[in-house]
Amino acid sequence: MPTFATRQAMVEAMRRMLDLGLSQGTSGNLSVRTGSGFLVTPSGIPAEQLSPDDLVPMDFDGHWDHPLAPSSEWRFHRDILAARPEIGAVVHAHPPYATGFAICGREIPAVHYMIAMAGGPTIRCAPYAPYGTQRLSDFALDALEGRSACLLANHGMIATGPNLSKAMWLAVEVEALCRQYAIALQVGAPVVLSDAEVAETVERFKSYGPREKSGH
Ligand code: 13P
Ligand code: ZN
Repeated sequence: MPTFATRQAMVEAMRRMLDLGLSQGTSGNLSVRTGSGFLVTPSGIPAEQLSPDDLVPMDFDGHWDHPLAPSSEWRFHRDILAARPEIGAVVHAHPPYATGFAICGREIPAVHYMIAMAGGPTIRCAPYAPYGTQRLSDFALDALEGRSACLLANHGMIATGPNLSKAMWLAVEVEALCRQYAIALQVGAPVVLSDAEVAETVERFKSYGPREKSGH
């Protein structure tokens, strides 16, 4: 049974996405793994109106029993959490810079060492499929192979993490990286790091990331 604290953290994360400019209106959603399934945000409820009881518990067969319908994107939340046991939370948003590259169907190359936080030398862009479809979920899962974040063509981005705070941290970092890359493209010709340079940083990142203070 997920704790009230988990539900509250999910509501706060949805509001933070709005405050940070990662989402607008009712775009974006998130999920957190629970004992037997996962909790996912409801579909079409603005973050300002969301309350902890509105989060929808689901199992990995796609069943729910709740007055509100789960996010239209429950399939990719379910499929990512089912396929990747190391992932505990999935964040989906439509942030302007990441989505700008996704609209152009462009993956993000290793133009900054921080790309390593997403697991490798590129952040891939999954091909377009309509929102809420199994096809979109299949494309997203492929794009996430060996990675913890990806873009979704003509749509937005997905960031994951072992827990909600790390998935949110990654979402913010991916958007920052996309912003830096957009600026670099305007300044001149971005220099791309080698696969070996990124691999070295991937190793260094294994012991890096937001830490919970001891006792919390
Ligand atoms: P939901 O409100 O159904 O979660 O949809 C928002 C979204 O971003 C769809 O891709
Ligand atoms: Zn979306």
